[in-house]
Amino acid sequence: MKFCERPFNSIYLPPSGEVWPCAWMHFVMGSLNDQDLDEIWNSDAAKAARETILDGSFAFCRKTSCQFIERGTLPDLSEEEIKERAVAAESPELITVANDKICNIACTTCRTSLFCPEEGYREKLDVMLERLLPVLNRAKHVDLNGYGEFLANPSFVKLLERLRPEREDFQITFETNGILFDEEHWAKFSHLQDYYLNVVVTINSLRRETYQYLTGGFDKLEQALNNLKFLSRLRRENKINWLMVTMVVQDSNFWEIPEYVRTFAHSEDYEADQIILKPVYNWYGMKHDTYWFKNILNPLHPYHKAYLRILEDDCWKEPKVLNWGCHNIREARLHPLSHEQINNQLLLKIYENDKGMSPEDYLGAAVKRVCGSRIGVYGEDEFSQAMLRLLQKTDVELAFRLTRFKDEEGEIPTISLQNLRPEMADAILMLDSYDQAHWTDNLRNRKFQGPIVNLEELLNEDKENKQ
Ligand code: SF4
Repeated sequence: MKFCERPFNSIYLPPSGEVWPCAWMHFVMGSLNDQDLDEIWNSDAAKAARETILDGSFAFCRKTSCQFIERGTLPDLSEEEIKERAVAAESPELITVANDKICNIACTTCRTSLFCPEEGYREKLDVMLERLLPVLNRAKHVDLNGYGEFLANPSFVKLLERLRPEREDFQITFETNGILFDEEHWAKFSHLQDYYLNVVVTINSLRRETYQYLTGGFDKLEQALNNLKFLSRLRRENKINWLMVTMVVQDSNFWEIPEYVRTFAHSEDYEADQIILKPVYNWYGMKHDTYWFKNILNPLHPYHKAYLRILEDDCWKEPKVLNWGCHNIREARLHPLSHEQINNQLLLKIYENDKGMSPEDYLGAAVKRVCGSRIGVYGEDEFSQAMLRLLQKTDVELAFRLTRFKDEEGEIPTISLQNLRPEMADAILMLDSYDQAHWTDNLRNRKFQGPIVNLEELLNEDKENKQ
């Protein structure tokens, strides 16, 4: 059976203050805003997260984006071996700090504008970092900052100045865009060279215009490359132990992959130990259409055929390349606008229905016929909001709105996938069906057995006649 040890030895700290088992397993074990880490690490929620590995469901693991699932490197273990390894560490050994959004650029895969901290943001973060310091000192491996740029926030430099790891085999990984990783900054935390240091520099293009476009307008390629020269020198002098460069592969840079690999594998100036090529992932917040244009792994993307030709290039055989799923072609998906057309047709069907009923009576009757009288709904876009308002006028019981994370009270409570219990609703109605396959997969993993239908299916005459 497949096994992953992350929930047993690691934590990921996103900006919300929540604690997850890893960056790709969206399961809230607790919150540092009102709990201490020991309590979270030993909580029932942490045990529940581990259970999803032990029962083989990997129910909250993002199958696209987890590097072990994408690359097929999860070990296949016997029951005995799993028993031996499935023991939670006394406290987390690998800590990925990703709790700060401050960054000096605005990569289009990460955000839509430069993050401007609101009043009190920095103070709150400082309190959290202060509480984290002893935990980081005890860890075996710290990774930072997995969200913003650690060198753009002096709090992280101060944290590093005060970091005093207790373990001799301590490792630290710096994730950076390289723009500020110069001699002056390095001097502030170079005492850490006594430990094992990894540096990962994200540079998404070697062409000035593309780099500028992908970083949200920042003309900083030269600066980043100069610092990469400096890092390469530190690597040769063994002051850092492993130097990686990363490209997030997408529509505007995939053409450069062979040149990118040649540059970083063999150049005297910029030689790296590893070149990570990872396809763009739809992290939360990226709009459907933005992602669609970036995702050249979609067979329906206009550049997909050109991308397939790049995938045949010999550069992928370079031993330094770590291919993070670039050859895993994704599901064929039409542009999201096609859903707008469907939505328009659905609106017409509801509002000009051939039964002469009011829209709410027509919709309510269809829901009760196909789904039952107590439903959960999913949908966050404007169309979903409009449908939800209409549903509220019917006599269908709206038990909850399904969300990725937050559970909140309200006229219609929101329930996160993690806290969903199968008996909470007779059926789930997908008001926004764009990600239906993904949600269906997740809901079945949560043992939800009832129908999961979208509006198109609901209003389908054939379906109606079959009932
Ligand atoms: S998402 Fe991947 S790394 Fe994280 S727990 Fe699941 S299998 Fe492990």
